[in-house]
Amino acid sequence: MLRISRSQLVHNIAAVQKQLAPSALMLVMKDDAYGHGVDTVVDAALVQPGVALFGGYDVDTSLQIRSRAGSGARVFAWAIARDEEIRRALREGIELGVGTSSYLERVIVVAAAEKQTARVHLKIDTGLRRNGIRTEEWPDFVARAVRAQFAGVLSIVGVWSHLAEASDAEDDVSASEFAQAVEIVRAAGADPASLHLTASAASWWRPELRGTVCRVGAFCYGIRSAEGPEIPGIRPIATLESRVLAAENDVAHIGIGALHGLPSTLGGAPVATLGGQRELLRIDAVTSAVRGWEGMRVGDTVRIFGPGDHGEMDATSLAERNDTVGEEILTRLTERVRRVIEDGDGERVG
Ligand SMILES: *Cc1c(COP(=O)(O)O)cnc(C)c1O
Repeated sequence: MLRISRSQLVHNIAAVQKQLAPSALMLVMKDDAYGHGVDTVVDAALVQPGVALFGGYDVDTSLQIRSRAGSGARVFAWAIARDEEIRRALREGIELGVGTSSYLERVIVVAAAEKQTARVHLKIDTGLRRNGIRTEEWPDFVARAVRAQFAGVLSIVGVWSHLAEASDAEDDVSASEFAQAVEIVRAAGADPASLHLTASAASWWRPELRGTVCRVGAFCYGIRSAEGPEIPGIRPIATLESRVLAAENDVAHIGIGALHGLPSTLGGAPVATLGGQRELLRIDAVTSAVRGWEGMRVGDTVRIFGPGDHGEMDATSLAERNDTVGEEILTRLTERVRRVIEDGDGERVG
């Protein structure tokens, strides 16, 4: 099961907000809140003073956030959506990230048909080449959006981009391109309040790159960057554990395997047992084999990752063994893994 500490999540969110202030936190919740569960995370995020802005990635996730968080929260969806999704998003006041001209046109058409004003964040490509308007095309794109704003169909509430985070120097260039893009929007007659460029690492470590908003997922969940340092005041919120189902010949068989989303590449990793760290020998379909320990018994708990209180590694340390990121280990866990939410005072099953 995946134990999720709600109090640690509340604590992490508060620590991130404090670090970023006066910039506002946009809590990023893609992939079912990085495998922790959207509803669980929204509930924790609304504990006072609370998160005012959520990043849902796609429209479905954003609508789920809206229904859990209520009408007071701002919710941002940046995946390119189908017209039907745009319609639903507009009705629920979801803000849309727009980074291609054809998508801008579709949003304008749907908003006009729905007699709605679409609240949009325009995306400039500052070097990542994923999606976003190239600098050469930015002035025309902005002019089109501003005309639609004058017509009442759009409201330009934000400008955003995504950093490559390959090097500080490249990110500095991106930041200056971003600042110029914002100037072009202002010169065209719009005044967007939400300017956002940075995700967890740059938001935390590079204050000079922060806009008025920072989009942060990983650090709120206590997932540090691969090859990155511990983050002061932040700890993982999730512990993946399993029980010993059978113990024989110096091997303990635990009840989690590949079909639960445990990557088979974790073979050889150390996990925490009641006898100390032991090697995860093999990952089978629904079970895994762990090197045994003195006095092992059926029902004993084995911890695969977590905050480290019982000698388990954090998800990022496991990921680093395979050149991947901690997020990937969490988001791969399937629905077969029961999520248990702990409040500090008792627990309830989520
Ligand atoms: C996932 C994502 C983020 C959050 O990244 P973290 O490193 O988890 O904080 C921010 N912005 C965009 C566009 C993303 O896709």
